Amino acid sequence: MIIEKSSNPRIGNFDPENFDFGDHFIDHMVICEYENGQWNEPKVMPYGPLSFTPANMTFNYGQACFEGMKAYKDKEGNVFLFRPEKNFKRINKSAVRLAMPEVPEEVFMNGLKALMDVDRAWIPSAEGTSLYIRPLIFATEEALKARISNKYMFAIVATPVKSYYTKPVSVKISDYYSRAASGGVGAAKAAGNYAGAFYPTQLAIKEGYEQVIWTDDATHEYFEESGTMNVFVRINNTIYTPKTSDKILDGVTRDSFIQLAKRRGIEVVEGDVKVIDVLDAHAKGELKEVWGVGTAVVTSVFEALGYKGEKYELPKLPEGESYAMLLKKDLVDIQTNVAEDPFGWRVKVEEGFAETL
Ligand SMILES: *Cc1c(COP(=O)(O)O)cnc(C)c1O
Repeated sequence: MIIEKSSNPRIGNFDPENFDFGDHFIDHMVICEYENGQWNEPKVMPYGPLSFTPANMTFNYGQACFEGMKAYKDKEGNVFLFRPEKNFKRINKSAVRLAMPEVPEEVFMNGLKALMDVDRAWIPSAEGTSLYIRPLIFATEEALKARISNKYMFAIVATPVKSYYTKPVSVKISDYYSRAASGGVGAAKAAGNYAGAFYPTQLAIKEGYEQVIWTDDATHEYFEESGTMNVFVRINNTIYTPKTSDKILDGVTRDSFIQLAKRRGIEVVEGDVKVIDVLDAHAKGELKEVWGVGTAVVTSVFEALGYKGEKYELPKLPEGESYAMLLKKDLVDIQTNVAEDPFGWRVKVEEGFAETL
């Protein structure tokens, strides 16, 4: 691994106690290029622009996928990643689906840890803060030929974030648009999946909702995901979530919530979640909570569901009775080294790791 430190670091102007979310990128980034059938030596180098022409194959044919993960700093200044091997496996699953080369484990893991080590000063430690990390792979060949690119880049960039308390949102259950189709790329974190979701989301916002609950493309009778998050429904004291498939992203937060719920003795059912069953439970007063989960905000609680012009308000649970909030706290406490880690999810980034490479 090549480590090229910035001669002009911006960290001196960054106040980890007081910053605007998403505006600052850490001083370094990881770059690794793929050509002639192999990955070159990765490097940690100063963060900055790269130059491409509009004939870059990513812009024309969309071979691009990414990951979203976080690093946390505890009160003693220790830096931890959360289940990074899940993101490593998933980026390669996405790459395979988009006919891109898989990234070797040491390129992903050592690049990630070296970057966190070199820029550990950028990782905030105040409650609710973390470093959001974006690994990505994209085509870099300059050619207007509708075929698989011969050149790629793997990169990692990162930005400090604050997860504010997110207020409950109203979501529209889609009865027309779909995020993913059977046999499609929904299970991959393909950049294009987001582009396709923006327009239906914009329409839902115009109707007074904040997000879309995606339903299956064939019948629109089954819940799939919510926005860019996996979705959970609580009916009485049982939690339901759609099982993963080629239309559903296998979220790290989803998997963690399932394990944390089971540890608490809460029944979790992974299977079909039918729109009509959810609305039925609502009518009977048995629908307690519906929420989305993902790395960025961990949990997004819903206050109302919209379906075919009707709005269904969800109950406001008293403090301490919400499974969504309980499990969110369980998760964040493990991520930030406040609680024991019975699952072995935290991965510590040792000080000086970059120098050992
Ligand atoms: C990334 C993503 C999620 C959440 O995955 P996490 O690993 O929990 O962050 C859910 N749905 C979609 C479509 C995603 O892209």
